[in-house]
Amino acid sequence: MRDKKTDCVAKRLKINGIVQGVGFRPFIFQLAVGNRLCGKIENTADGVSIFVEGTPENIESFCRTIPVKKPPIAQITHMLISDAPVKGYSNFSIQSSKGHQELKSTLISPDVSICNDCLSELFDPKNRRFHYPFINCTNCGPRYTIIDHIPYDRPYTSMKHFQMCPECREEYDDPLDRRFHAQPNACFRCGPMVSLHTDKGEKVETGNPIQKTIELLKAGKIIAIKGLGGFHLAVDAENNNAVANLRRKKTREEKPLALMARDIEKIKEFAELNAEEEKVLLSPARPITIVKKRRRSSIAKLVAPGNQYLGVMLPYTPLHYLLLSYPFSALVMTSGNKSEEPISISNQDAFQKLGAIADFFLIHNRDIYLRSDDSIVRVAGETTLQVRRSRGYVPVPIFLGSKTEEVLACGAELKNTICLTRGNQAFLSQHIGDMENPSTEAFFLKTIKHMQQVLDIHPDVIAYDLHPDYLSTAYAAAQKNKQKIGVQHHHAHIVSCMAENKIQEPVIGLAFDGTGYGTDGKIWGGEVLLADPGKFDRLAHLSYIPMPGSTAAIKEPWRMGVSYLLDSFGETFREFNLPMFQTIDDSKINTIARMVTGRINAPMTSSLGRLFDGIASIMGLRYRVSFEGQAAMEMEMTADGSIEGSYEYSWQEGTPFQIDVKPIVQGVVRDVINHISQPVICGKFHNTLIHLFTELSEVIRKTTGLNRIALSGGVFQNQILLKGFSRSLAGKGFKVLSHSMVPCNDGGISLGQAIIASAGMGDQQHAD
Ligand code: ZN
Ligand code: ZN
Ligand code: FE
Repeated sequence: MRDKKTDCVAKRLKINGIVQGVGFRPFIFQLAVGNRLCGKIENTADGVSIFVEGTPENIESFCRTIPVKKPPIAQITHMLISDAPVKGYSNFSIQSSKGHQELKSTLISPDVSICNDCLSELFDPKNRRFHYPFINCTNCGPRYTIIDHIPYDRPYTSMKHFQMCPECREEYDDPLDRRFHAQPNACFRCGPMVSLHTDKGEKVETGNPIQKTIELLKAGKIIAIKGLGGFHLAVDAENNNAVANLRRKKTREEKPLALMARDIEKIKEFAELNAEEEKVLLSPARPITIVKKRRRSSIAKLVAPGNQYLGVMLPYTPLHYLLLSYPFSALVMTSGNKSEEPISISNQDAFQKLGAIADFFLIHNRDIYLRSDDSIVRVAGETTLQVRRSRGYVPVPIFLGSKTEEVLACGAELKNTICLTRGNQAFLSQHIGDMENPSTEAFFLKTIKHMQQVLDIHPDVIAYDLHPDYLSTAYAAAQKNKQKIGVQHHHAHIVSCMAENKIQEPVIGLAFDGTGYGTDGKIWGGEVLLADPGKFDRLAHLSYIPMPGSTAAIKEPWRMGVSYLLDSFGETFREFNLPMFQTIDDSKINTIARMVTGRINAPMTSSLGRLFDGIASIMGLRYRVSFEGQAAMEMEMTADGSIEGSYEYSWQEGTPFQIDVKPIVQGVVRDVINHISQPVICGKFHNTLIHLFTELSEVIRKTTGLNRIALSGGVFQNQILLKGFSRSLAGKGFKVLSHSMVPCNDGGISLGQAIIASAGMGDQQHAD
């Protein structure tokens, strides 16, 4: 193949990243042959190794093209090119995989949405996979959710039960075929199939289960549909009765339901999209994207009641595309679970748990080994913010600025994830959920076991939250022969933000959320820290206030309202004409007031989330919530962004500084009494927080000399605050770090915990 022997040179390439099981070797093969190069490619422990010989120009062109033309789901993290002696190969070949042991530190691909090639075959009547709901290739299809062991090879996936037919086998074995080593390769003859069942599990005899499902959806039925990472519950999104029915049966009052629409054009009929949002919706991860709802559309009101936004996604499996071949405006595709439990993944579990919700079940016989909820993102400018990082993103690691120890971090409680670290990589798990029931705890245990197995990371160090009552803390405590490191919740938030920004030097951290256990046993959440991975100091916090009824105060923001009113005015607060007094019984208010003044079942908190709740109730916006953060979310949506005014604030210097919120509460009460509109009050409240903490940060900068600020905690899901703080702090010359790859909410906690534990310090530790 070489024309001029004298002109021949050789190079060795080592490529790391997601380069196995994603069509990388056939791509290299074709590129090498196209450039008239000889040599070989083989999988190695941490990627691929390539040897090529040919003319310098051809080799140069080959090397230059790799990162540009790589297969869509391949990710190159490192590419090392070195000179090598010419060996005189006569062709280019793909070497078979080496022993299993060696493949253990290779990165595993996340699940990937169906590619355009497969999509056109799916709807091509002449193709042998016409309408086959499991069509896939090396560029697309299930990955992480069907693996139970490494290396990523068919016998270690849930495809092991299906023996390929000769035609599929031929594609699988041919290096030039786009299904070369596509582990889930299958067809009608040899692969998984769908079937339709009643709510009792009895099979519905029909020649076309998908067509039948479409008819049932049109008729307003609730269908449980087995997907990629678990079951969805689907209804026609235009059918208000069907949506109401689903909400009632699922006991989901107001929390928005996710939609799936056939294409971007369909989404544009009911939502406003910008170019960046379109790009994210179309990305191979296909996340649920939070977008602005159009004021008038055919989507049922109950999909996202009282909300200006909708969570939408595009189809990501062939089955979804087949279901959406009927021109529904959109389908509600909400997670297939009973209230807050993990979504069902097995057919049996689904029949058992969803039988009382779904009218029919569209199932299939390819097992899901690891549950993976749909990811949720939001686009801010050119940045994609993770709200729930799960399917499509996991298990791609977060690359760190420096090497870490091997650590298992257990996360906190709500929106929990776990994290495993190795070298400069942090593997954040998929969304596990709120660890408040036994089935979520079981999923947590399974995820730890599964991730340790597929990543081959078995740490001796365990990091956990300081909260003594969390199930994740109890898990850590029960482990034998491990070093256990307790990490303060807000310290973990800030370090999680530092880690994804590759920063190790101390920062000023603004950690704002609802609940996090403090080192003094109180509930923190409005915290200014001086933090690095080794330690933290609490520089300032919102002054403590009683939380009457403890967690009951989270569900009923008016309780916090009463607590703040008492704090700001004493008993005279009852003389004001506040809307709350028309809605909440006097007797109830009296009871709560007694709990506050008597400190009966009223733990102290410095939470900013609770301040939002209190203000929302004082202004009459919301007294009870049906999901976490609802009151704050409504204040954000209500706020008039053009308002420039703000409320007064003050703090007492000390160690730490105490931020007094009385002037803020008093200002809000004055405005409410003077009939100032809710949008104005909300606007002023947001401005106040930005002014307050910007000014405080400047004071802290003077004494600490620190100019870098990290923003973390669930409160920063609030876009007015995120943008407002970024702008205001940058305006004062601060370097601002915020989240993008990792959620700012408790879904990112485990990353911070792992980094802090790896730094070896922690905020409390013991070994056994
Ligand atoms: Zn494909
Ligand atoms: Zn086949
Ligand atoms: Fe938190």
